[in-house]
Amino acid sequence: MDYSDTIGTTATFSAASSSFSQSTPTVVVSPCAACKILRRRCAKDCVLAPYFPPSEPLKFTIAHRVFGASNIIKFLLELPECQRADAVSSLVYEANARTRDPVYGCAGAICRLQMQVSELQAQLAKARADLLNLQCQQAKLRAFVYKETSGSPQSNTCFLDHNNAGPLWT
Ligand SMILES: [Zn+2]
Repeated sequence: MDYSDTIGTTATFSAASSSFSQSTPTVVVSPCAACKILRRRCAKDCVLAPYFPPSEPLKFTIAHRVFGASNIIKFLLELPECQRADAVSSLVYEANARTRDPVYGCAGAICRLQMQVSELQAQLAKARADLLNLQCQQAKLRAFVYKETSGSPQSNTCFLDHNNAGPLWT
């Protein structure tokens, strides 16, 4: 087996794995990304293997850099299996956030999003107030036009004359 295509930095490990897998091909399956990066044998019951497939080495690299492999393993062992996939997603997300923003991590992203929500809520409230105002003006204009056009023939003529003469709503 050759793993050199999935991660370029572990060329020596790939070579070692290759020779190992050739001698005992039934024991060794493709090591998970975590074991590959930690340069250790991936056991059949490897707790990390289901969540760090060899196709996604970056996931483990980032989580390992922030939390450390032993902590990740400890976290996972403390959880029931049904929650481990979510926990890994959360760890990787948190590690990414922490890498981008070493001071606030996820809290920084939450804070920014909350500010954005507040700004958008204020904009929405203003837009709603403007809309209400415009609807009010429109209703007043309608009432005015209705009053002018449905009045006596004299006032109707007067309205039309006034309309032709210049701006209506000044
Ligand atoms: Zn493994």
